[in-house]
Amino acid sequence: MNECHIDSAAIIARYDAVVEKVAQAARNAGRNPEDVTLIAVSKRHPAEAIKILNNHGQLDFGENYVQEAVAKQEELAQCNINWHFIGHVQSKKAKDIAGKFTLIHSVDRLVLAQKLQKRMEMLPVSSLDGERKVQDILLQVNIGEEAQKSGVDKDGLFELAEQIMAFPQLRICGLMGMPPASSVAEKARPFFSNLRILRDSLSTHIGIPMKHLSMGMTQDYVQAIEEGATFVRIGTEIFGPRPY
Ligand SMILES: *Cc1c(COP(=O)(O)O)cnc(C)c1O
Repeated sequence: MNECHIDSAAIIARYDAVVEKVAQAARNAGRNPEDVTLIAVSKRHPAEAIKILNNHGQLDFGENYVQEAVAKQEELAQCNINWHFIGHVQSKKAKDIAGKFTLIHSVDRLVLAQKLQKRMEMLPVSSLDGERKVQDILLQVNIGEEAQKSGVDKDGLFELAEQIMAFPQLRICGLMGMPPASSVAEKARPFFSNLRILRDSLSTHIGIPMKHLSMGMTQDYVQAIEEGATFVRIGTEIFGPRPY
């Protein structure tokens, strides 16, 4: 990709506007803007675009594709970045992402969690305290009950969470979900509030408070923040349309 074609001034201007909209949505909802983390979704955009925003102060970036994500991590190894894996993970690729991301948002089945745990067991223990590393994860819920979408069905969520809690090196921090696509952002709201209710009842059920709700994209992040999102995942409004 020709890096000369990246309009860094335009990316920074759009990014600054999104940061302000996110903070404003939080304040409007009576929430502390610091409780909402903006993840810049950089899938299909070059590493250079990430560098521009990282130099501008953005720390959290989201990627969807294993190979692309790992290549960017290697290219940007010198940068201080919190990497989020937000895409579907094939079980055989679990070993390529375990331990490499601040948060994996898209754990939706037992076999995937098993593979992540197995990989974590193979990583060296911390040289600081001899402890085994823990991978923070979210459980992705198919909130719209759509056949084509990933995510555990809400009826299977509690059982999946209980099973994963037996894995010592995975820590469930909350839930992620995507409402059915719609051009009307308000239509997403009930799916977001359902995900919040589900997170709260899961927290009660397993007796561990779960803080996080990863929900809201370019189309609907204002509604998501109003319904309690702690992570919003925004690509297009920051970087523009994806090049391919
Ligand atoms: C691509 C993607 C996003 C970002 O979508 P935009 O509409 O570009 O903001 C967020 N979450 C997931 C899971 C994605 O795949």
